[in-house]
Amino acid sequence: MQNRLPFTISKNETFYEKFSEWIGDIFYEILPEAGFELRDEQIYMAFQLEKAFKDKRIMFAEAGVGTGKTIVYLLYAIMYARYTNRPGVIACADETLIEQLVKKEGDITKLEQVLGLQIDVRLAKSQDQYLCLKKLDHMKDADDFDETASIYEQLPDFVHVTGSMQKFEKYGDRKDYPSLSDETWRKISWDPLQDCFSCDKRHRCGLTLNREYYRHAKDLIICSQDFYMEHIWTKNARIREGQLPLLPEHSSVVFDEGHLLEYAAQKALSYRFTDYTLENLLTRLMENDVREKTLHTIEKALSENEVFFDTIAQFSTNTGSEKQAIQKNAIVIQHCSQLLTTLQELEEELVFESEMYVINEYDLKIVEEYLDQITYSLSLFLQDIKGISWFEQLGGERTLVIMPRMVEEFMREEVFSYKKPYIFSSATMSNQKKFDYIAKSLGAIDYLSFSVDSPFDYEEKMKIFVTKFKEGNNDKKIHYLIENIRYSEGRALVLFNNKEEMELVKERLKAELPYTIYFEGDEEISNLVSKFQNEEQSVLCSIHLWEGLDIPGRSLENVLIYSLPFPPNDPVFTAKREGVIDPFSEVDLPYMLLRLRQGIGRLIRSEKDQGTIHILMDKNIESEVVEKIFNVLPTCPVVNDIE
Ligand code: SF4
Repeated sequence: MQNRLPFTISKNETFYEKFSEWIGDIFYEILPEAGFELRDEQIYMAFQLEKAFKDKRIMFAEAGVGTGKTIVYLLYAIMYARYTNRPGVIACADETLIEQLVKKEGDITKLEQVLGLQIDVRLAKSQDQYLCLKKLDHMKDADDFDETASIYEQLPDFVHVTGSMQKFEKYGDRKDYPSLSDETWRKISWDPLQDCFSCDKRHRCGLTLNREYYRHAKDLIICSQDFYMEHIWTKNARIREGQLPLLPEHSSVVFDEGHLLEYAAQKALSYRFTDYTLENLLTRLMENDVREKTLHTIEKALSENEVFFDTIAQFSTNTGSEKQAIQKNAIVIQHCSQLLTTLQELEEELVFESEMYVINEYDLKIVEEYLDQITYSLSLFLQDIKGISWFEQLGGERTLVIMPRMVEEFMREEVFSYKKPYIFSSATMSNQKKFDYIAKSLGAIDYLSFSVDSPFDYEEKMKIFVTKFKEGNNDKKIHYLIENIRYSEGRALVLFNNKEEMELVKERLKAELPYTIYFEGDEEISNLVSKFQNEEQSVLCSIHLWEGLDIPGRSLENVLIYSLPFPPNDPVFTAKREGVIDPFSEVDLPYMLLRLRQGIGRLIRSEKDQGTIHILMDKNIESEVVEKIFNVLPTCPVVNDIE
């Protein structure tokens, strides 16, 4: 162990003593000498993290923008990995951010250069980021093979030979095929219906080779939070089936942008059934020369699928979020049971069809896998499970989502029950330095926490205006938005609580402002963000970008918050409220304060940034709530009343 550590430990010293000394040298001497700015906030964070690693505890590490928190958690995760001989995991908010950490100008490279270290860091990308040889093979028979023919030709030689593999290299990463559209990529990349375990190409497959590679990381494995949660969710089942878990044993986990983990956990825990999935699948199946009886069952299933989704749509109510509440009444249950019975009949029919070889073996396998997933989802929906379900209608797609277990219970049992350092790093996780809300949402009972402010001078750089309007006076509110966007000459982000609010202002903003205005939902979100960033005087209106948007510079100098971001009444929040004694003070208020802070946090992203925040609120908000809002603002606001 010791030869991989950059310091030596004598017989009467402990790792932690020497490590603490080394951390002091790094932040007080080595980094400043190399030109890094010495920041008290960063040094404070560095010494706080020691407790979490020493005692293997959960820690909420809140450090404002500009603290340099990445360098701190990287140093801890790497040295702890060397001490324990197991890599640390860094779970980033999404797949694109994992590349950011290892890029040439990134913090890992900086640490290597300044400290003279060789850091063994490997990426564990989501499985759909890798080529599937089976699917590529299947494409050879398809009409549109031309598009992927060059990929086939560029495969390494060892893929085609059957003997032992003397030498192999990693291949098949999505980023190796940048010109390929996402649509074409989906035709040849791994998907959840592939049965890798029994695949005859497994040992030559890029996915297996990449997985094999990151499994042997000595210092760090970097993945997305979604992938980490998928690892947790599938771990036991994979072990039962004789497979290795997605990630190897690891010594610590850092959740970068840790406040987002709840969403990743929800995603991992949910089963999704979309209307067109079954429709597409069954329509394709009908193109085969199947028996009359099977054809009849398929037609019946197609019509029942439509009726089922029409019924859920009819008995679902809007909740202010995309998660609509389903009224699980007798009619919904009846149509669900009918569809389930027909699909089970179809599964039996397919057993006969498989014996007659009229359906291509590959297609049949896909249909069976899908049917298996759909019938499982429907049977969960019919059961009186402890979890929750909801309905989503987005871009013409109708989806039934079932989350059989609550996030907090799952996290407590499957993640936090293993004693290791779990670090949640983020600029915004607390309410006045209290972490109860996020801890409860994630099922963390026993945890450490600290909060350090941003080193930036907010008093000088940020002006906050809180303006109160008579409830429902949207006309005055829209007028206020227009005036203040004009004042900053565009360069504004307007944050809404839901789609209805945004729709309400859309036409007037477009008609009355001389700037280009982008609205979330009109185009793919990262496209909109990039246009907003590049066109300095444009305006971006958004429902979801309260967090994660990072636009330093002059394109964002004004953040306008159209209304206080109280949570919606969707099934997830309804379940949260049901689980506490005082829903307003334990769920609604802390959620709103946290989201408000996250929205405000979009403004100052670098030392040179400055600008204004406008918070529009109803006059009748209780004075105790207003006081709580003022307490979380980084500077004292100017308060106005508008009749
Ligand atoms: S191992 Fe999985 S991803 Fe690889 S070729 Fe086989 S099915 Fe496809």
